[in-house]
Amino acid sequence: MKVTLTFHGAAGCVTGSCYLLRTPDSRVLIDCGLFQGPKTLKALNYNTFPFVVEQIDAVLLTHAHIDHSGQLPKLVRAGYRGPIFATPQTRELCEIMLADCGHIQESEVEHLNRRNAQRGRPLVEPIYTAKDAARAMRSFEPVDFDDWRRITPDIRARWWRAGHMLGAASVELEVARSGGEPLRLLFSGDLGASGSPFLAGPEGPTTGVDHLIMESTYGGTERPPTDPAARRKALADEMIAAEQAGGPLLMPAFAVERTQELLADLLQVIAAGDAPPCEMFLDSPLAIKACDIFFRNGWTGENNPFEKVRAGGRLHFLEKPAESDRLDKLTGWHLIMAGSGMCDAGRIRRHLKRLLWKRETTVVLTGFQAAGTLGRLLQDGHTAVHIQGEPISVKARIRSLDIYSGHADAAGLEAWARARSPVRGNLILTHGEPDSIRALKRRLAPLFDDRILTPELDECLSLEATHAAPEPSTPRLSAEAATTLDWHNRRSDFLSHLDAHLEGLSDDTQRTAVLLRLQDVLGGRRS
Ligand SMILES: [Zn+2]
Repeated sequence: MKVTLTFHGAAGCVTGSCYLLRTPDSRVLIDCGLFQGPKTLKALNYNTFPFVVEQIDAVLLTHAHIDHSGQLPKLVRAGYRGPIFATPQTRELCEIMLADCGHIQESEVEHLNRRNAQRGRPLVEPIYTAKDAARAMRSFEPVDFDDWRRITPDIRARWWRAGHMLGAASVELEVARSGGEPLRLLFSGDLGASGSPFLAGPEGPTTGVDHLIMESTYGGTERPPTDPAARRKALADEMIAAEQAGGPLLMPAFAVERTQELLADLLQVIAAGDAPPCEMFLDSPLAIKACDIFFRNGWTGENNPFEKVRAGGRLHFLEKPAESDRLDKLTGWHLIMAGSGMCDAGRIRRHLKRLLWKRETTVVLTGFQAAGTLGRLLQDGHTAVHIQGEPISVKARIRSLDIYSGHADAAGLEAWARARSPVRGNLILTHGEPDSIRALKRRLAPLFDDRILTPELDECLSLEATHAAPEPSTPRLSAEAATTLDWHNRRSDFLSHLDAHLEGLSDDTQRTAVLLRLQDVLGGRRS
């Protein structure tokens, strides 16, 4: 029997990381994340897994981000009873992140079911609850960085520091084979940028890799090299411009790692007199909980930058929804940081809904914005968006500050792949939108010739030491469908344009005429 690797997520898109490795004796998953972005892609979260859950022997987790860990409670709910191997820091972060995700699933379904009941549609169950998340935590088995760990009788693994976020790892796997050398696979997980003052750069084995499975998030982007001082200067400049615009600065931020890094720098630039002081609100219960974890783990040296990230002075931590509601009365220069980072969920949506239409508002996006998310629509310059079913016109200044991203850029990815060379078999590019994967493939072609593979969702490869070959497979979605705007996005776009068009007409007769013409096209009856 062959060794095969199937890409059940993060293939042709950046979310839903989940790879299934089958050997003659074992079946293990590397990551088990939620799909995020277009509704068509997110719908996969509600389906059953495309493999037999009871047959999985172990899960190897690279890091705590929900797009890598977010389906673990669903896996346990579906009957998985094996171990989930992860670093202690990843375990600690998953404890708060999966519970939060469970709450989000519950409240989203509550909201959806209210609408389904009104429309006479069948009610749906949450993917999982906070209770399921707590249950999944009992399956976690801590692993140390750098040490080989027996996973199943024929597989051992070792976790390498990947930068990216607290506890994040690349995972190296060694698969024993009867009558031959073991097969060595390296899964990059998400790779961090080097030069961060908070995290060390990504590491990894320097020899002996047969197949390298690497993320491609920023495969088409090269950022100017920045040091911590340059990063803080860019942040201070955004604050100065936002204050001059006269209104609040909204920072949709990833609750864990990015929020703490931004807060540490914000406090520093204000203390140094480089940016205008203001009341600052951290409006994210998850980020507030994560601050505690960073306070304990963040920086074990003498100088812990996260130590200063405590509520006090002009920095306020808002835990209760009522505290968040009180922000509605504020005017003028202040700063609100809230999740989620891609504006897909969380309290940031409420603030965007009430502030996007004002010219004096500034929104600074600080991380990767996946296709189909509200953050990406704003980044792409859409002048009208829908939030919680309501059309909102975008007059705010929208800025991107991706030097705070936790991901390596194209040069960083190339350097990491180069440091793992020579790779005997293939470079397999995953976790990227099609344009980024294509760009990274072109960039790395001189190093890997024609040995670069770019699997699609649910594609299966059979693995030999020197080559990987595609096996027949049935994809649930094409890469195109996973990353382009789906009909839900297009409907929102159409409704926003229709509203703008109707408003632009000079009188009600013209507006009625347009609506009647549209109704004719649809074949509806005029009333
Ligand atoms: Zn990540």
